[in-house]
Amino acid sequence: MILQNPPDGPLPLPRRLELPVIEPTTESAEQIAALQREIRRLARERDAVVLAHNYQRPEVQDAADFVGDSLGLSRQAAQTPASVIVFAGVHFMAETAAILSPGKRVLLPDLRAGCSLAATITPEDVRRWKGEFPGYIAVGYVNTTAEVKAELDYCCTSGNVLDVIDAIPADKGILFLPDFFLGAHARRMRPDRRIEVWMGECHVHRGIRAETLNAARVRHPEADVLVHPECGCAGQLIYEMGQGDVEPEGLHITSTEGMIRAATENAAPKFIVATETGIMHRMRQMAPTKQFIAADPEAVCAYMKAITITGVRDSLTLDQHHITVPPEIAARARGAIDRMVALGR
Ligand code: SF4
Repeated sequence: MILQNPPDGPLPLPRRLELPVIEPTTESAEQIAALQREIRRLARERDAVVLAHNYQRPEVQDAADFVGDSLGLSRQAAQTPASVIVFAGVHFMAETAAILSPGKRVLLPDLRAGCSLAATITPEDVRRWKGEFPGYIAVGYVNTTAEVKAELDYCCTSGNVLDVIDAIPADKGILFLPDFFLGAHARRMRPDRRIEVWMGECHVHRGIRAETLNAARVRHPEADVLVHPECGCAGQLIYEMGQGDVEPEGLHITSTEGMIRAATENAAPKFIVATETGIMHRMRQMAPTKQFIAADPEAVCAYMKAITITGVRDSLTLDQHHITVPPEIAARARGAIDRMVALGR
């Protein structure tokens, strides 16, 4: 099968997770500052480190010791000398931290923080798929459960997917899961490789369409455009660029950390950002003189936003929710994660 362009309409997901309702932040600036001080004090007392993903609420990012993408946070989890890790992210990330730091206590402030993309594939699905393609190397995006990781040869993130593919012998076929758009991006970037792609999707990135992005480009013609390869628009944009329908000048398809770097290093004064809107908080902090515009203001992950500033505080005071991975699963998943963490060091 040659993937030219993602199909119209939602992909045929095997299953969907229930979306939590996004509660607005109701605390005043003073209350937030007091909660952040309390979190830092509790973290010191408990020998804890607070890790926050780029898509977290701004006040949660500001309370954290480290903010980053899933790869950066995996590295922090593996290296931290702290005995407790509070993971302000989603469940599979806390599982990854628990696998990398088996002697540490990993806390996830809210158990509703799942991931629609991780929910698209089960370990049984992976085993069945591997059976259909014997000899292929299974590469899984880090957005997978520990049980799925236990079936993989390699993990990867949006930032290192091409490094992982390049590290696999050229004569080997690859099963890429679970994100269709990232897999399609990898196929286009490495057209000489045999890559089969799982039809999974993240509902947030899937919702950012090329039409919406192009309309933002018309409104802000002077802006550079930063697109996450998981976005519904990314596959379509690459295709349209190939057809000459989209102007590639000033358009960057890159990982979340690549977006942050572009925001600080590129000379452009204005950027249209096509990923979850939470990332713009860090961009504004790192490049305060520049302007950032959401390609789609509706691109908000309800799973990420299930974590609140009071939830992080309660996680430390009530010691909740302890995330563990059975040792046998953890041992098998660890090899795939270690290979990812080691790449690009
Ligand atoms: S933005 Fe998408 S991939 Fe990321 S945690 Fe939310 S549902 Fe999962």
